[in-house]
Formats: sequence, C-alpha cells, structure tokens
Amino acid sequence: MQPTLRAQLFIGGEYVPAASGKTFPVLNPATNEVLTELAEASVEDVDRAVKAARQAFDGGPWPKLKTAERAKLIRRFAELLVKHAPELERIESLDVGKPVKESGGHDIPRAANNFSFFADALSQWTQDAHWTESNSLGVDVNLLSVTMRQPLGVAGIIIPWNSPMMLGTWKLAPCLAAGCTAVLKPSELAPLSLMKLGEIAQEAGLPPGVLNVISGFGEVGAALTAHPGVNAVSFTGGVATGKRVMKAAADSLKRISLELGGKSPNIVFGDADLDMAVKGAVRAIFRSQGQSCVAGSRLLLQDAIYDRFLDRFLGAVANLMVGDPLDPTTDFGPLITAQHRERVEGFLQSGLAEGARLLTGGKRPADPALQKGNYLLPTVFAGVTSAMRICREEIFGPVLSVQRFQDEAEAIRLANDTTFGLAGFIWTQDVNRALRVASAVKTGMVWVNSFFLRDLRTPFGGAGESGFGREGGRYSLEFYTEPKFVCIPY
Ligand code: NAD
Repeated sequence: MQPTLRAQLFIGGEYVPAASGKTFPVLNPATNEVLTELAEASVEDVDRAVKAARQAFDGGPWPKLKTAERAKLIRRFAELLVKHAPELERIESLDVGKPVKESGGHDIPRAANNFSFFADALSQWTQDAHWTESNSLGVDVNLLSVTMRQPLGVAGIIIPWNSPMMLGTWKLAPCLAAGCTAVLKPSELAPLSLMKLGEIAQEAGLPPGVLNVISGFGEVGAALTAHPGVNAVSFTGGVATGKRVMKAAADSLKRISLELGGKSPNIVFGDADLDMAVKGAVRAIFRSQGQSCVAGSRLLLQDAIYDRFLDRFLGAVANLMVGDPLDPTTDFGPLITAQHRERVEGFLQSGLAEGARLLTGGKRPADPALQKGNYLLPTVFAGVTSAMRICREEIFGPVLSVQRFQDEAEAIRLANDTTFGLAGFIWTQDVNRALRVASAVKTGMVWVNSFFLRDLRTPFGGAGESGFGREGGRYSLEFYTEPKFVCIPY
C-alpha cells in the first residue's frame, strides 16, 4: 500500500502552504531518496497557528465542552488511529527507518492507546476538597476549600524524530483531554506521521484550531517557545535544545516540561535469569537502532556471569536481521541521517582511541542492498571505563559500553556515575536486592527484570540532565491545567 503523504501545514482545521511558500525535502533514511517536499513554517506561520489555537481556546467551545463530550472526541481519535494504522505504520517506518515490526507492533498501537487511555482517565480524575474545622489550623470558622483544575490554555508541543507518533500523541492526548488547544511541532527529520494527525482531527470532527501541526526547523520551535500566546511548552529532545527552551520560556514565564536524553545503566547481577536478561539487554540497546531516550547503553555485568553473559549476548546480536525497515523480518534499520551516522562513527573512533575493545560491529554493513541507506552495524565495546566519552555522552545510536563490577555497591557507584538520570534496568532474582538497587539508582524510572513495560498511569520522565517534569496519568493532566482553590466558609 502506497501511503498518502501530507505536504502542508495544518492550521485552523485546514491544510495550508507555508506563508513564504518555502518547502524542504524529507528523506527516507533507508535510501536517502526524497519522500516528499514539505511546507517549511516560519515565524509568521507560528503566529498564525498560535492565533488559531488561541481563538479555539479563548472563544471556542473546546475548554467549555462537557468532559464526557471531550472524552468522546478523544476516543474517536483513538479509533481513527486504529483504522489508519496500516498507513501510519508504513509512514513511520519510511520516515524514521524504524522496522515495521516496531512501528506496527508497538508505536502506532501505543499512539492509539495514548488517546483511549486519556479518554478513560478523564472519568477517573479526582480533584481535591479540604475540610477545615473551626479552630484547627488557627481559624475560627469551618472552611471548605475546593481545588478546581482548569485548562491552562494553548500548549506548544515539540517532538524529536526518533518515535514521533508515540511521543507526539503521549503529549497531545492529555493536552486535548485537559481542555487545552495545541500547536504541535514535529522534528524536521521525521515529521510525516504527525502531519497526518490533521486528517484524523478533521475526520474525528475536532473543532478547527484545537489542533495545529506545523513542520519546520529549530527556529519554529524557538518561536513557539517565545510566543506570548502560548501558556506551556512540553518539549522532548536533546539536552542542549532543552536548555535553550528553558531560557526562552523564562521571559514569558511559561510552564515547561523537559524530557531529555539519557545514558541508562542496565545492571545484570550474577543471580539473574540470563535468558531473560540477554533478550532484555539486546532490546534495551538495539531497539530503534539505539536511537531511544531510554536505551540501556551502559551494560554493567557482575564478574561471576561476565563471560557467560557476553557470549550469549553477542550470539543474540549476531542474529539481529539488519535490513529494509519495511521488511517484516527486519530487526534493525538505518540511522536517521547520513550526518547522524557520521556523528555516531565519531564515537567509534573515540572509543578505540581511549582504549575500549571492540567486540562486534563498529562498521557499516557490507550488503550491497544497504549501501544507499544510513546503516551502521550493532556495536559493542568492552573494557570501558566511566571516564571514556562513549560511556559519558549520549550517542543515540547502536553503541553499547560494557563494564564489569564485583558487588552491589560497585554496581550502584558505576550506575550513578553520569550526569543523566532517565532510566535504569536491574536483572536479579533477589527481590530485596532489586528494591535496594532501585532506590539507590538516581533515575526517574527503574525497570526490574523487564524493559519498557508501561502502565500509562505511572510518571514517565527523568532527573539531572535528563530533564524534569513527568508525563503519564494525572501527572500529564496536572501539567496542562491550572489549579485554583476556592474557599467557602460554612
Ligand atoms: P533536538 O533537541 O535536536 O530536537 C528536538 C525538537 O526541538 C525538534 O523538533 C527540533 O526542531 C526542535 N528545536 C530545535 N531547536 C529548537 C529551539 N531552539 N527551540 C525549540 N525547539 C527547537 O533532538 P532530536 O535530535 O530531535 O532528538 C534526540 C534527542 O531527544 C535525544 O537526546 C533523546 O534522548 C531525546 N529524547 C528524549 C525522550 C524522553 O522521553 N526523555 C524521548 C525521545 C527522545
């Protein structure tokens, strides 16, 4: 099936060209061929989109709609994402280079789930009331204080290229559920699936201006962040950009949430179920070609199982099918751009120069069928120390650093020897150890004997240079709403 690609901005309920008429090419990472020429928004288009969102919020029906009505439209979105899933999966794989196993098996179903989850969450969301009796807390009347949660206004949603549909809908669904309107900005490197949300909004009957989607480069994100008509910015992307967003948001005191990078430790203890741990560790680093914020890019192995584990692990890596993302048997596709591959190759040089031992990969595949794409083989380095660049910096590619530890204390020390704090993974059969280590690891999220299993009510996000703010369930709904207490003496 040949998908229909959207090549224009979605503003005020319609697809429109950029004010300047400018376009930019969107490339297929598996071939570097142009998928489409997409409208390139400028500051003027940002202003148009924010005005449309402002109008839909300030004068429009959206924030005033009864909760059940809003939930119905959000559920409709979920149903339409399911209906259009075959096309969306294909677009995601063409545009991001994600194996269709992953876009079809996870990301697009998850996008639909994000909407159905927040449609349900609305009916379960509780708001607080506090009863204060006379003379408690020094007051001599009885008080009832009710905390209302009111939609915040217009949200700017800025998305990276690695998992556009999963991440974009993860922000958009609670934003709309809370009664806010949105200007969504996908990454210039993989915008095509999110551009289709305009079509879904039209088909769902979303009022014009409630959702606007504008494609373009960093200046579009910067203009959105600085725009006085935007009340909050929810940003997912790199640390350096996150810092820029925070500075730019300061002038208008916008509420912000920053989901940034990671360098997550994957700790395997001697008593772990090795079959499970090997499978989990392979997925943790090589899913999405390592281009994942929660990638388990630092593998910490206890001395007792070090050799056995690595043997099995390298065997499993050798079995990964590297190939065309659209082939249903492919496990591992290309990197997003030729420049990004060169950047990752720079880390390979640095690892070797700093004395790490290359166990596998470290080069482009020889297969003639893959020469036009940005492929790089899954790469594993052993003998890595915490001081090496490959162990300190987020590579955002298929490169794993392996370190050895003796005991729990050393594992925790190595795990925490980083400026990031997004995720951690622990493999052990000892529940006491799992809990001790989970509480000692300085990350926002810890998975025990598992990788990336999600209950969407839980807080997703990181600490340190991985950013701040949490997404999921009530955490997201709180971000997009303003708390207001109303005090009634009685
Ligand atoms: P990036 O920071 O380069 O770009 C992210 C988005 O910000 C893009 O849409 C880009 O156009 C926009 N942008 C660029 N300059 C901007 C500015 N000055 N103001 C506002 N917006 C601007 O990141 P990327 O390369 O697209 O994505 C990779 C990064 O994203 C990695 O660091 C990865 O770890 C991180 N990430 C984090 C999570 C998470 O949940 N924590 C999830 C996925 C990716």
